[in-house]
Amino acid sequence: MKIDFIKTICPYCGCGCGIILEVVDGNIVKTLPDKDHPVSRGQLCIKGWNAHEFVHHPDRLTSPLLKGKNGFQKIPWEQALDIAAEKLKAAADKYGPDAVAGLSSARVSNEENYLFQKLIRTGFSTNNVDHCARLCHGPTAAAMARALGSGAMTNSIDDFVGADLIIMFGSNAAETHPIIMGKIYEARAKGATLIVVDPRRTEPAKNADFYLPINFGADIPLINGMMGHILDNGLEDSFFVTERTQNFEAVKKNLASWPMDKAVEISGIGPNMIAKVAQLYAKAKSASIVFCMGITQHSCGTANVHAICNLAMLCGQVGRQNAGINPLRGQNNVQGSCDMGALPNLLPGYQDVTDPGVRSKFEASWKTCLPSTPGLTVTEMTGQAGDNVKAIYIMAENPMMSDPDINHVRERLKKLDFLMVQDIFLTETAQLADLVLPGACFAEKTGTFTNTERRVQLLRKAVLPPGEAVDDFTILNRLAQKLNLDFDYKNPEEVMDELATLVPIYGGINFTRLESAGLQWPCPSHDHQGTSFLHKDNFSRGKGLFVVPDYTPPREMPDPEYPLVLVTGRMFCHYHTGTMTRRSKTLSQEAAHPFAQIHPDDALALNISQQDSVRVSTRRGSIVLSARLTRDVRPGSLFIPFHFAEAPANALTHEALDPVSKIPEFKACAAKLAKEESKEDRKHDSRKGQDI
Ligand code: SF4
Repeated sequence: MKIDFIKTICPYCGCGCGIILEVVDGNIVKTLPDKDHPVSRGQLCIKGWNAHEFVHHPDRLTSPLLKGKNGFQKIPWEQALDIAAEKLKAAADKYGPDAVAGLSSARVSNEENYLFQKLIRTGFSTNNVDHCARLCHGPTAAAMARALGSGAMTNSIDDFVGADLIIMFGSNAAETHPIIMGKIYEARAKGATLIVVDPRRTEPAKNADFYLPINFGADIPLINGMMGHILDNGLEDSFFVTERTQNFEAVKKNLASWPMDKAVEISGIGPNMIAKVAQLYAKAKSASIVFCMGITQHSCGTANVHAICNLAMLCGQVGRQNAGINPLRGQNNVQGSCDMGALPNLLPGYQDVTDPGVRSKFEASWKTCLPSTPGLTVTEMTGQAGDNVKAIYIMAENPMMSDPDINHVRERLKKLDFLMVQDIFLTETAQLADLVLPGACFAEKTGTFTNTERRVQLLRKAVLPPGEAVDDFTILNRLAQKLNLDFDYKNPEEVMDELATLVPIYGGINFTRLESAGLQWPCPSHDHQGTSFLHKDNFSRGKGLFVVPDYTPPREMPDPEYPLVLVTGRMFCHYHTGTMTRRSKTLSQEAAHPFAQIHPDDALALNISQQDSVRVSTRRGSIVLSARLTRDVRPGSLFIPFHFAEAPANALTHEALDPVSKIPEFKACAAKLAKEESKEDRKHDSRKGQDI
């Protein structure tokens, strides 16, 4: 018997915890925590402890599949890659470069993301490349890059422990980032004040010193109220504002139109509470802001993030250890896939595709001519599928679960000339594909992931992929060669070495240096030790930019026909579209069925009891799931997790987009609720009908 212990990184959330896979005779039998890991230090959440459970699942894709009249048929790799290259090229040749689009992935490595965007850009001369960061932190990247010069978490995960105040906006980190929540609780145990702003009474809200049950989408009014109070009482850091920022006068002028009573009326938070948390935040020695999708997934998501940046700069709570503005990234490599330029307007390292100097640097390295016009975002690609977009290549993404209004997405994807999906399971999106390529999972490849605190970490191969499946690095190289591109990488390490020459924030990073604890970017040179917090003496853009945040309420408010507000989100035992966690025995036993959280008052009015079957409907569709009665949601609202394909929450959500980042408004739309008749009730009713 051969036993190996392979150190690698958890494949789930952006905490990027260290795990050790125990491999017996080529099979992973156990996941253990890595006591030496710089972030998790021997701790894992339930997902991490069971990270191996989906790896050897019998549903894994084991050979390329081509769809014919009788469904999918296995075909050899050579044929599959010939078809892929021919079909993608045919769409570009017939309809023009922008008829091809590619969706990269926050689940695959940095090197694979880098190759994917390079293949789309150089192979088809289009910038139509994006990934699901658009659907979680698109506004963060847009607003923080504009205001501060970098869209990433400003501080490190360990910095939370040293903060004396932490304010969480729209983040249920207890479910989404458990190890980070542990650090926040550690800070609180040491005396830090915890403030939670959330319409739902989440676990952090229940454990907070101050809980602000804000109205849906009213973050800008609340923050404006706080800033007004800070200025009225001279609590701002005027030295910081003068020395480190610009455009403050415009924001100050705008605050004059936000008197406290207006902030109170829209936010639903009382004036004393607004004043209290404003004072605490402004006076704290080191105050850290944490935010997540409760801030970003709104049609004013980018403006929400600007409001947060304004508040932090007003009080000088950024550019210091233990303070900062900290967006928690959801998926394991969502930070890295953005860093790698899997974005329609940015080349690797956040370098603008419209800048001729930037393009010529990449053109010289890649020996090609690059397109200068930004491409389509995720939602634009699917929205234009069948019209302008004729062929889409999707790597390890599942828009049939993650995009808003999936009934519409399905219709659109069916109109394509060619849909190719590369994944480890036959996902809801792969089922619609013309061609499916079997990829490898995290445990079957080498490469790097970048976690939410900008830490680039090594991913180590523990086992072989099943059947004929191969890692995405190999698939991309072979496909690029079929497209006659100049790709000749021997291993992912060579990709990182090329990347380091083109992306200054990764300039000093190579695989050898990542061996022990990884490195936090910016790491511009080989003697640089990485950066634990950003914007110390100057912001990455020079002076921090105050931006007036335009408040707009949610686009679809409740009305007599659809009287409830629907909110969607994640839960502790599952991850993203459930592709992996729902194939984990332990995790799926812990959380097996879809449910809707309903306030008991709403349930009573509709004669709904605990665990009754209910139908939730919006103008886009309806789903049936189980009722979970709880006072954690406010009366007049519902919460549904989006992991369950049998009751997909995104059949209900709508496509209202933030105009800047193009993120959909997942956090509020109008819905109605009804008790679903049981089969017995329906039989009874039909008999009644016959009687009549
Ligand atoms: Fe994995 Fe995130 Fe859990 Fe850590 S907190 S073990 S990275 S899912």
